[in-house]
Amino acid sequence: MKPVHDMGVAELAAALKSRALSSREATQALLDRVTAHQALGAFLHVDAEGALARADAADAQIAAGQAGALTGVPVAHKDIYVTADMPTTAGSKMLAGYRSPFDATVVARLNAAGTVSLGKLNCDEFAMGSANENSAYGPASNPWDVSRVPGGSSGGSAVAVAARLVPGVTGTDTGGSIRQPASFTGITGIKPTYGVCSRYGMIAFASSLDQAGPMARSAEDCALLLSAMSGFDERDATSVNQPPQDFHAQMLAAREGATAAQPLKGLRIGLPQEFFPAGLTADVDAAVRAGLAELEKLGATLVPVSLPRTELAIPVYYIIAPAEASSNLSRFDGVKFGHRADKYDDLLDMYKKTRAQGFGAEVKRRIMIGTYVLSHGYYDAYYLQAQKLRRMIADDFQQAFAQCDLIAGPVAPSVAWKHGAGKDDPTAAYLADIFTLPGSLAGLPGMSVPVGFGEGGLPVGLQLIGNYFKEGQLLHAAHALQQATDWHQRAPAGF
Ligand code: GLN
Repeated sequence: MKPVHDMGVAELAAALKSRALSSREATQALLDRVTAHQALGAFLHVDAEGALARADAADAQIAAGQAGALTGVPVAHKDIYVTADMPTTAGSKMLAGYRSPFDATVVARLNAAGTVSLGKLNCDEFAMGSANENSAYGPASNPWDVSRVPGGSSGGSAVAVAARLVPGVTGTDTGGSIRQPASFTGITGIKPTYGVCSRYGMIAFASSLDQAGPMARSAEDCALLLSAMSGFDERDATSVNQPPQDFHAQMLAAREGATAAQPLKGLRIGLPQEFFPAGLTADVDAAVRAGLAELEKLGATLVPVSLPRTELAIPVYYIIAPAEASSNLSRFDGVKFGHRADKYDDLLDMYKKTRAQGFGAEVKRRIMIGTYVLSHGYYDAYYLQAQKLRRMIADDFQQAFAQCDLIAGPVAPSVAWKHGAGKDDPTAAYLADIFTLPGSLAGLPGMSVPVGFGEGGLPVGLQLIGNYFKEGQLLHAAHALQQATDWHQRAPAGF
């Protein structure tokens, strides 16, 4: 049998079910690995004792013949999901020492499915960032090259999977935070259609954009996790009321007219010209084209399409997301949650000192931008204008989907950058979000799938975007690609 850390979610679940290994053994092996690789900064909290107790409960269920698809499989959660049995910080000093009285719905569902949570994963403060360097608890490092960032904001999640510390994790994606770190670390991640996963208990950044999703090594592993995480939740007013979905079955379902050699026969993949601009680095371009060539071999046809407002997605997102953040983050006032300044003169001074101490620089920057664009006199010029453009960006996708089934392109314009590279110019990282933001603004499902390596042997992800509720189609295409190639199985040297 392979070492535990070499097994993905599906493989490990099968080994547990056959009782070739117990969940306690798997959990202990991975806990040891988490300790050995602490320097990567993936975890903010490890709950060894709780994990072993959960593993024992899972082993009892397996012994009783009641194992589900995920029973006993170790996972870990981005520290933006509130958890009753572990602290939750959202990567912020503001929430140091905070304990939630309840579990986020996504966490509760994965617990109910029998997964064994090892702990909470590092992330950018309140999920604002693209490098995990905005975490108040220190950065996380990319296991492919520890002098590089893992991407963000779900950086700790990506590192945990890429370094084989845990086979599957949760992330969140507001403007690319599942797809971009997945791309930077050579793993697979999916952000479903807005509304497919409940946002209840997911600490809010930009509520009209925030969406939960799984990150793992393969599309198959993501499909298993997403089936357990998703579904209607009456506690989230934007949760889509549709019957529970079996994404694994959807992933496996054969296309009409498909053959064994050409499982993607007839699938039209649109390539937006705006996703292949002159400034795209040659290594990313080459890897993405290699992935597309594989999809063609599997029967897909590539068709040119256009998303003419792609560049506008950056200003539109960086108006709407801070606007919503400035409102959401007003709840951190020193009264209701977390940190409160030690010394202050009066109530106003308490608010000021608490927020000045508790929030990091990027969060403050966004609160200021958001407050500004929502203020009387600027609302029409910025916020309202951005909302109108958001609708037009979504309409552009519908025009494109008239000619294709899926859209493909790069996830990010480059491979993972060096630690500290974004320090002097906070807005430079905003520009690197160009390919993930349009789909986020439209609320569409998107994936990152490894398609090779660029500069310095660093991973490159192919982005696949589907129309609303086409997660099954996305996973099907990604799975077909992964059956034919092994990019997703490569591990960083030493891991
Ligand atoms: N990089 C983007 C930002 O900083 C996206 C973050 C996210 O998806 N949570 O806002």
